[in-house]
Amino acid sequence: MNQSPKSDLAKIFCIANQKGGVGKTTTAINLAAALALLKKRVLLVDLDPQGNATMGSGIDKNAAQYSIYHVLIGETGIDQARIQSPTGKYDVLPANRELAGAEIDLVQMDEREQQLKSAISRVIDDYDFVLIDCPPTLSLLTLNGLAGAQGVVIPMQCEYFALEGLSDLVNTVKRVHRNINPDLQLIGLLRVMFDTRVTLQQQVSAQIEQHFGDRVFKTIVPRNVRLAEAPSHGMPGIIYDKSSRGAKAYIDFANELVKRVKADAKKKQAQAESTAT
Ligand code: ATP
Ligand code: MG
Repeated sequence: MNQSPKSDLAKIFCIANQKGGVGKTTTAINLAAALALLKKRVLLVDLDPQGNATMGSGIDKNAAQYSIYHVLIGETGIDQARIQSPTGKYDVLPANRELAGAEIDLVQMDEREQQLKSAISRVIDDYDFVLIDCPPTLSLLTLNGLAGAQGVVIPMQCEYFALEGLSDLVNTVKRVHRNINPDLQLIGLLRVMFDTRVTLQQQVSAQIEQHFGDRVFKTIVPRNVRLAEAPSHGMPGIIYDKSSRGAKAYIDFANELVKRVKADAKKKQAQAESTAT
């Protein structure tokens, strides 16, 4: 139990940012759907009591017999609780408001931050990628996400206050890496809802590149109304309007992420070999 996946390729990613409304769920849903289009087997874990990733994948969050809540408290496994998205061709571990109560149940459990990790480890061979959509907090739920993942993807808007919140999150990732989950890496920052006409956004974008260098994804997701409309149809944006600029950006992002994960694994292997000799 709690073992790391066998392959060197990272495949469990948290989509996290404690700021609300920055595009976490939109990124999680569209990345899941884009990876599914690339013929990858994907599980999207909804770790937010708002259940937006569940609804946006075309699944009624209140009709599901089991949800992530039941998985976290050990009542059932992901194999029982997962539902295939009828619109996105990936699996979803659904969430709804019940999950808000999980914090209280978890506090009384041993290894309370490891529950999600151990549940994922039992189904990991079924998937090429597991994406965890985190809530806008640095709570015990998010900690379960970070403890269970190998990488963090941070979607962010290029606004002045975005940078301020970012250092809290990066420090949390470092602390989790040090104390709870040595597998955890910052995979990258994804600029979303980008509007090239706004000078401040361009300035902040340049600052982010300066500070985080190659950890910033080259793909930039534009502000695009089709992405915002899609959830009300229970569809990923890339399925709702695949020719939209937003859809194209998320497909590019999926390709960039796959490449980056492979490159990171190569780097890690080279480092391990050079320290072994
Ligand atoms: P929360 O913190 O509440 O979980 P979030 O970080 O998951 O929010 P989303 O729900 O993905 O953020 O996005 C917030 C709002 O912005 C939603 O209404 C979404 O449809 C919209 N949105 C997200 N990305 C884009 C985009 N690229 N262009 C236009 N609208 C977008
Ligand atoms: Mg969300």
